[in-house]
Amino acid sequence: MTLSLTSTASLHGTVNIPRLGLGVFRVKGGPEVEQAVAIALELGYRHVDTAVIYRNEEGVGRAIAASGIDRSEVFVTTKLWNSNQGYQSALSAIDTSLGKLGMDYVDLYLVHWPKPEHTADTWRAMEEIQTAGKARAIGVSNFLPHHLDQLFETATVAPSINQIEFHPHLQSPELVSYCDDHDIVVEAWSPLKQGTIVDDPELSVIADAHGVTVPQIVLRWILQRGVVAIPKSVTPIRIAQNSDLYGFELSDAEMTAINAMDRDERVGPHPDHVDF
Ligand code: NDP
Repeated sequence: MTLSLTSTASLHGTVNIPRLGLGVFRVKGGPEVEQAVAIALELGYRHVDTAVIYRNEEGVGRAIAASGIDRSEVFVTTKLWNSNQGYQSALSAIDTSLGKLGMDYVDLYLVHWPKPEHTADTWRAMEEIQTAGKARAIGVSNFLPHHLDQLFETATVAPSINQIEFHPHLQSPELVSYCDDHDIVVEAWSPLKQGTIVDDPELSVIADAHGVTVPQIVLRWILQRGVVAIPKSVTPIRIAQNSDLYGFELSDAEMTAINAMDRDERVGPHPDHVDF
């Protein structure tokens, strides 16, 4: 597979999402996020993943505006927080996020977590948000097959993407095949297992064989799986390393070995046990 930092995945054939983006969860809203986004854009990243709950949308917007790169060249995702689910509150929440970002539209707006009691009303609002041009694409995050089944009962537009926890220790094969069957792109959050996978001995052997680091192996594996990845870092050298994935390729045997590392082990909450 030929991949580069500008490679994209198609969302329902209408919008292209860069396969690699910068995640900014737990990045402070002022200079910290502005610096991380600025460095990423300089390095050639064209995709930033934020959320209203990260409290850094303003800084993301400022960094993109200051970069001199045309808004249309940068793919921006933000997310609807749980307490804003419901029809009217979702319609207001996108306006709040756009105000903070200083933008007329986001490229992708996601329902952050499933809240089954609100799914039908929230998704109706998401469809209107897309029709109004406030989001070029809409999708979900942390939805399991039964959450998607419920959404499909009333949806007129299918979600284009499902952003889920995904890394070698959590591969959710049934969820991924459900998404494949429904033309839903899978996007990996915590692709580095929040930094805890970097010392994995089995991955270290593969990294040494290619003369790269474990994070680079993990991110390359995710991209070769056809999954979009949004690693987070505020450390310039790591932001660079995480985008330097295109000078090597994992063999079929290496892909198979990493595919066999699934332990069904999460670092984040289980989507059926969300109490926030
Ligand atoms: P990641 O798996 O991206 O790991 C981030 C951690 O790994 C940080 O501590 C970072 O440290 C460290 N790290 C990054 N690169 C390297 C490297 N090359 N070598 C060693 N350590 C490294 O975790 P996240 O939870 O942040 O997930 C990524 C993004 O996914 C989030 O930022 C957010 O955008 C999204 N997300 C979405 C969720 C959802 O519910 N939809 C939930 C959680 C995340 P440092 O920054 O100090 O360099």
